[in-house]
Amino acid sequence: VAIVIDGKSIAKQIRNEIAVEVSRVKDALGIVPGLAVILVGSRPDSQTYVRNKKKACEAVGITSQEVHLPEDSSEEEVLTAVSRFNVDPTVHGILIQLPLPKHMNEEKIVNAVSIEKDVDGFNELNIGRLAMQGRAPLFVPCTPKGCIELLTRSGIKIEGKRAVVVGRSNIVGTPVALLLQRHNATVSIVHSRTNNPAEITREADIVIAAVGVANLVRGNWIKPGAVVIDVGINAVDDPTSQRGYRLVGDVCYEEACKIASAITPVPGGVGPMTIAMLLSNTLASAKRLHNFQ
Ligand code: NAD
Repeated sequence: VAIVIDGKSIAKQIRNEIAVEVSRVKDALGIVPGLAVILVGSRPDSQTYVRNKKKACEAVGITSQEVHLPEDSSEEEVLTAVSRFNVDPTVHGILIQLPLPKHMNEEKIVNAVSIEKDVDGFNELNIGRLAMQGRAPLFVPCTPKGCIELLTRSGIKIEGKRAVVVGRSNIVGTPVALLLQRHNATVSIVHSRTNNPAEITREADIVIAAVGVANLVRGNWIKPGAVVIDVGINAVDDPTSQRGYRLVGDVCYEEACKIASAITPVPGGVGPMTIAMLLSNTLASAKRLHNFQ
């Protein structure tokens, strides 16, 4: 039976390390790392994410501020908020909560964030550098970075391994594949048009699933002894639960845990790592902007 990779406790340890480092920065420089969040509209899920991010900042001593614009704001108004934070010396990280309302050009707005404050790592320049050998992105997207941290902090070697990423989104699949490659894995990407996805995934020593389809990756997709990182968060009906649903990953956990050597649970695997990496990126940004080692 697979070892359970406990993302919750690994994320907690990282948050503790960040809190110590934040106070070291405060003592040495007299500055407090700061995150600015721009939220447009009133999607309840987005509001919850923003609230959780602000709470997590507070808990480690990072300041956070939020600009909350109405759904019918103009693109100009959002761009104005971005420009203001780009030049605000108390802000070291800027996060645009996605998705933006349909009438806005998301690409334009995300790329307006200064690459030096792009703690989500979604600016094309940061992703482009991630894709190029010998170039260093200033930030790596949080969920992909969290997947790699889970592997390295669990003592799982990446170099030389066969890795398969299921999913090729800009936010998770593609950057996590690039990161694995940077860690010297041999990487394949399985996506919605792949022939024989099970057969290809079965070649992997490391599987990272980021699809958004509950239980897509079955036990027979997994090579015995492989390591499985499940990014998916999917709600499925569950009349026995109080809320009427429960959260499951993209991997069929009950099957995979009998075949894998290590696996992340959902919830409690990758999820908690994403916010920890946001804090880590914000701290790193403050240190870089003040030339502090
Ligand atoms: P997305 O919808 O943007 O991308 C899904 C990708 O999966 C696409 O590239 C698509 O080609 C691929 N795909 C779709 N059907 C497939 C199939 N049958 N076989 C193989 N590939 C297929 O989703 P996303 O933003 O990458 O998110 C993926 C999942 O991860 C979602 O469940 C999301 O909720 C979750 N997520 C979790 C975190 C976290 O913090 N843990 C962060 C981001 C996303």
